[in-house]
Amino acid sequence: MNNKISQHRILNSGKISRRKTPRLFARQDSMCQPKVFIQTFGCQMNKYDSEVMKSLLLKEGYEFTDNWQEADVILVNTCSVRQHAEERVYAYLWKWSKYKQETKPNLIIGICGCMAQKEGMNILNKIPHLNLVCGTYSIPRIHEFVKDLLKTGGRRIEISEDYTDFPPPVHEARETKISAWVAIMRGCNNYCAYCVVPYVRGREISRSVEEIENEVKELARKGIKEVTFLGQNVNSYNIKNKISKIKNDFALLLKRINDINGIERIRFTTSHPKDMSQATIEAIRDLPKVCEHIHIALQSGSDKILKLMNRKYTREQYKELVEKIRKTIPKVSITTDIMVGFPTETEDDFMDTYNLVKEIEFDASYIFKYSPRPGTKAAEFKDDVPEEIKQERLNKLLSLQKRIVQKQNEELIGKEVEILVGCHILKDKSKYFGKTRNFKPVSFQSDKDLTGKLVRVKITEIRGGLLEGVLASQN
Ligand code: SF4
Repeated sequence: MNNKISQHRILNSGKISRRKTPRLFARQDSMCQPKVFIQTFGCQMNKYDSEVMKSLLLKEGYEFTDNWQEADVILVNTCSVRQHAEERVYAYLWKWSKYKQETKPNLIIGICGCMAQKEGMNILNKIPHLNLVCGTYSIPRIHEFVKDLLKTGGRRIEISEDYTDFPPPVHEARETKISAWVAIMRGCNNYCAYCVVPYVRGREISRSVEEIENEVKELARKGIKEVTFLGQNVNSYNIKNKISKIKNDFALLLKRINDINGIERIRFTTSHPKDMSQATIEAIRDLPKVCEHIHIALQSGSDKILKLMNRKYTREQYKELVEKIRKTIPKVSITTDIMVGFPTETEDDFMDTYNLVKEIEFDASYIFKYSPRPGTKAAEFKDDVPEEIKQERLNKLLSLQKRIVQKQNEELIGKEVEILVGCHILKDKSKYFGKTRNFKPVSFQSDKDLTGKLVRVKITEIRGGLLEGVLASQN
């Protein structure tokens, strides 16, 4: 850690103090390992960060539980992208705080991630029994903070403003033995008007190709078959890289990882339309392990709204990009994010979005209602689209997207697709679940354990919006 870090320790402040909670909780006295419960909100990067936390705490001997009432340490890893997510976190913190006060005084409660980074001291002031506020770039030290708090029962705030530390690779805490996330970059330089990410995760930094390559080789040795590269904007990978002296780009990274034995599939998320290069599109077409699925956030189909959002592309440019991708990569699937109800969005602006979705026919859309995020440019605008209009527009787009997916799924009936078999369907050991190369979920029956295998499945029906099929062959 370098000396730019602003680090504060607050012991004996608020209602929890060394004197009031003088001893470690009983678990340590009875030689049991403390149990940790982690609740995660938000994107894949947050889920990855929770894996990092779990991995670091496992190394120190902590146990994990899925039941927060059994836990000695509760950590919530948070998201600031939408107001609703923040409200849910506060509801949990109040519940746990009350539980601690009434039932388990030695419980350690910590908030980590984006909300912690953004709110800092405010959260500690608001939640009386909270012990730890740990920002996004302090997560690699979570084990130190937990250890200290279990001894002292104090309160601590850890917010780093130096965004150059990259969390250590995660290997111990993988939930699945088939797929793994690999963070290749962090932060974002784009400053979209509605988004807090550049403020809570800092400017873009990329890991070196060599470091990523070594991590993926290690994952392959451990039996991982599919890696998903994570970054707020993977397409600008290594541009203006401040860590590695070696200049690379995302297409080159894909090529290097494609050559690693044992890895069968490579995915990535998420991409900004303005940074999607021809070299990357061709790499997806040419490299056999790179899956034909691209997530490129549209956000709005109205040029006026795109400009206000500071997205740096027009409706026409987005359409041209989609056409170029579809022309270059046969059978590619394109998914997107859309926001409705951005300030000043009129019915005409919304219909521009609606008609573009209808024309492009995305394979999936993640659609959200706008909510102002304090500190962003858009928070200075009047949030002038009434809630019921936002909801109406959301519903309209959701039902359009549902019809598009239904049509795409029907076209797959009778066709064979390649699946990487991930896991059993709950409660049915002979039913397996996996995804096609272009990210469509499929289930099928098999008496043989096919976990981790590439198989071909013939699609026979659609049930509950999901594809079902029969095993055709195993690769
Ligand atoms: S590209 Fe825009 S929306 Fe995405 S993380 Fe960066 S600022 Fe946020």
